[in-house]
Amino acid sequence: MISVKGLEKAFGTNLVLKGINEEIEKGEKVVIVGPSGSGKSTFLRCLNLLETPTKGEIWFEGQEITAPKCDINKLRQKMGMVFQHFNLFPHLTVAENITLAPIKLGLQKAEQAQETALRLLNRIGLSDKADAYPPQLSGGQKQRIAIVRALAMNPDVMLFDEPTSALDPEMVGEVLELMKELALEGMTMVVVTHEMGFAREVGTRVLFMDEGMILEQQKPDAFFANPQNPRLQDFLSKVL
Ligand code: ADP
Ligand code: MG
Repeated sequence: MISVKGLEKAFGTNLVLKGINEEIEKGEKVVIVGPSGSGKSTFLRCLNLLETPTKGEIWFEGQEITAPKCDINKLRQKMGMVFQHFNLFPHLTVAENITLAPIKLGLQKAEQAQETALRLLNRIGLSDKADAYPPQLSGGQKQRIAIVRALAMNPDVMLFDEPTSALDPEMVGEVLELMKELALEGMTMVVVTHEMGFAREVGTRVLFMDEGMILEQQKPDAFFANPQNPRLQDFLSKVL
């Protein structure tokens, strides 16, 4: 589904991604872990061109999205993204947050989009919040709404950048639970997280990033039980 070839990204003279090669198959749940500043967010943001790669190629569903003639907006519709800080529009209601993109992009008529939004809110037990504004919600509610907002576009892959890092501890569970459900439904997912329990339980593959490179990748069992790279061993000894 996603193919990354020789990806480099520099900010000025700071080379942040140093040649990443990666293949992500349909249905995989790829979890990315690594120290702060190692390039995890930059990598994720390159996958849907929120950052422009300096070098290399990214292919998505058979199309090179790094090619100049590619219509990235079209492809981005198929890639849902969830951010650490939710990125909901504070001045729009919950329902408006969810229906905005599908209506604006002409994917759904207003009435149909509203129906989809209510169905999604119902699914997460928040149908009574349709007319509320994001500042009136808890962090866990906001993040679950951000997730279903992405789902309203019917994406083929969901990218998560530390979706629980900004949450109070008691709200982490409800967000991970929803992500687990998506995983069970077969969604292709790429998840940057520090939740090692989630990586172990839900991941089909865990990647360790450090200093702009993927230093190791394994199935979760081997990744946690038998890490090879000394930097990964050191990292795990600090976070587990
Ligand atoms: P991580 O998500 O693993 O913490 P990031 O991808 O956010 O790491 O950052 C990797 C490096 O790239 C850091 O040194 C960071 O300062 C730098 N960086 C990230 N985004 C930008 C940007 N927009 N401009 C300049 N430097 C950036
Ligand atoms: Mg980050």
